[in-house]
Amino acid sequence: PTPTRRPHIGGNWKMNLTLDAARSLAAALRDGVAGATQDRVDVTVFPAMPHLAAVADTLKGSPIAVGAQNAYFQPDGAFTGETSLSMLSDLGVASVLVGHSERRHVLGESDALVNEKVLAALEAGLDVTLAIGEKLEQRENGRTDAVNAGQLALGLAGVPAERLARVTVAYEPVWAIGTGRTASPEDAQAAHAAIRRALVSLYGADAAAGVRIQYGGSMKPGNAGDLLAGADVDGGLIGGAALQSTDFLAIVSAA
Ligand code: PGA
Repeated sequence: PTPTRRPHIGGNWKMNLTLDAARSLAAALRDGVAGATQDRVDVTVFPAMPHLAAVADTLKGSPIAVGAQNAYFQPDGAFTGETSLSMLSDLGVASVLVGHSERRHVLGESDALVNEKVLAALEAGLDVTLAIGEKLEQRENGRTDAVNAGQLALGLAGVPAERLARVTVAYEPVWAIGTGRTASPEDAQAAHAAIRRALVSLYGADAAAGVRIQYGGSMKPGNAGDLLAGADVDGGLIGGAALQSTDFLAIVSAA
């Protein structure tokens, strides 16, 4: 990271935890984060939808922001099973995770749908974490930077420069998610630098310099320091290790 970009650590709880466990984890983070962050780091947690209200309540008044793992882009109406941005705002949810690889590749979300969600969330006043990343065969075919630049351009289509500061990009190589396999610090930094160049070509150098780019994919306390040392690595999006307060707080401390 650079001094101009405040690190941002996200905890993606995915489809995990009971309501009680989500509340307890939130309380442990609330109590532990003050010492861990020293006000240097932005922290957002993304609980499962049914736990959002309880977690938002537990974290009220704490520096930890609450985000949703998903949202629909349309206003309230006949969209069975979906959650609107206004419902999230109403709960005190401050941001939305969009474009996670599990939504792209397991649930089949297209770049066009990702873009609709990004635009609608920003319009609704929520912050966005936009996740992008290549699959293993794309990396092996030398397409990592092209895939990331493509997902970035399509995901951000129509987003004006003045809203870019509310977007955090999460670079998550698909082959590193939940596998215990991380990108090397050098490979992560190289991918992040290429993503920043793509942002420069879309928005110019000044706006691009302000965007936080998180690394995600098996980030743990033991590898966080090395990964976060990259000049363009401005935080992390943590899955498995976000479910243990001690692990997550250790990563926050490393940022
Ligand atoms: P992981 O997940 O840390 O368990 O690899 C990261 C993510 O999917 O955001």
